Amino acid sequence: MSDAPDAADASRPIEVPNDDTLMEKVVGLAKRRGFVFPSAEIYGGFRSTYDYGPIGVLLLRNVKDAWWRAMVQLRDDVVGLDAAILSPPAVWEASGHLRNFTDPLVDCRQCKERFRQDNLPDPTTCPNCGAKDSFTEARQFNLMFKTHAGPIESDAAVAYLRPETAQGMFINFSNVLNASRKKPPFGIAQVGKSFRNEITPGNFVFRTREFEQMEMEYFVPPEEALRWYEYWCRARHDWYVELGIPEAKLRLRAHDPDELSHYSSGTSDVEFLFPWGWGELEGIANRGDYDLTQHATHSGEKLDYFDQATNTRYTPHVIEPAAGATRAMMAFLLAAYDEELVRGEVRTVLRLHPRLAPYKVAVLPLSKKDTLTPVARDVLARLQPHVMCDYDETQAIGRRYRRQDELGTPYCVTIDFDSLEDRAVTIRERDTMAQERVPIEELAEHLRAKLGL
Ligand code: ATP
Repeated sequence: MSDAPDAADASRPIEVPNDDTLMEKVVGLAKRRGFVFPSAEIYGGFRSTYDYGPIGVLLLRNVKDAWWRAMVQLRDDVVGLDAAILSPPAVWEASGHLRNFTDPLVDCRQCKERFRQDNLPDPTTCPNCGAKDSFTEARQFNLMFKTHAGPIESDAAVAYLRPETAQGMFINFSNVLNASRKKPPFGIAQVGKSFRNEITPGNFVFRTREFEQMEMEYFVPPEEALRWYEYWCRARHDWYVELGIPEAKLRLRAHDPDELSHYSSGTSDVEFLFPWGWGELEGIANRGDYDLTQHATHSGEKLDYFDQATNTRYTPHVIEPAAGATRAMMAFLLAAYDEELVRGEVRTVLRLHPRLAPYKVAVLPLSKKDTLTPVARDVLARLQPHVMCDYDETQAIGRRYRRQDELGTPYCVTIDFDSLEDRAVTIRERDTMAQERVPIEELAEHLRAKLGL
């Protein structure tokens, strides 16, 4: 298209913003373009809670779908589950969360601020007011949200919002085993909300009190645990790389023995290089038979497996890859953010993997003319059954391209006046800004092949 305002040869990369400004820019873009809004903003906001806007809801869904595809759809040894969020104390008694899911809290006697003791840069100095030795003794604070089920706020009515999705898989072990006719090694996967009354939420959606997790419990014969642990560490690391996180910004870090929980014989974290340093995206843990044994003991139900081939009964060991969907979304956003100079102007572009991109295609009639609209609408209707599309007919075409670049849309399809004659349209690529002309009849197939989905 000759009058297109940008062309590949006019661009040259500039430095990606340094780490201090990157966060600010991504958070600004997220708000401006409808990825993530601070929650309850019209009432002054509600600290560290966020709402996912029209674009963010698509991105987050794509992250979860990509996980589900890799963990469930492309395998025959993993099945899904969607367990309840509200749960009785018995579950958390057995899992150990009522006793152990705590953070040590200290208060500064001078300024009255409260901190997580294990997060203090200097345990003798208040990071807020600078007072020396002003902290109270640490006390343990349970991170679970407690509520009451039903009209009476008695102890008998206490319920908890789950702080992780994992327990739903353990307490349904027998149900799933019987219903699915799987046998170890097999897994149960779940995506859903979890709640933790975090003392120090922050860093945008990195740590929030309400967040989404993507967890899988993989049940294996005990002697195969180590092999599967190593398998899942590698597989989960590679999943982020396949979806576009540069390997240099990703690492698999094995926990030191003193970091391990008492039941774990090995835990590794997939970490991403956030602007403030390395941070956990996902933990992969070799949990032994701890969870099934705890629930079997507390409930009195058998939670084991009878292997007919060998005529033996055993409690499977568990390998758990536990990821955060909202945290992963943030990492994908940070890794995708890029700026380059095009004809003296900064072009901001989210180089998201096509599988994650909120819109795969934007349909843009060159102008808002009655003659172009019907063709553009026809093009949109041809693409919508296949991929998520945006449709935008106002503003100069150059500005509309820039908007799609900021949303991470891999392809724009422009309908111009020639389209009325030759029944062809222009495809413009996000990353290179290269353009090509394609017949409308072949468009859907052509784009599907280019997207590679
Ligand atoms: P952290 O050490 O960061 O608090 P964790 O080790 O307690 O995390 P897990 O219990 O292993 O986290 O949970 C699995 C995943 O769930 C984490 O790797 C992270 O991606 C996500 N996650 C946990 N807590 C939060 C939170 N408060 N906000 C957003 N995501 C979270």
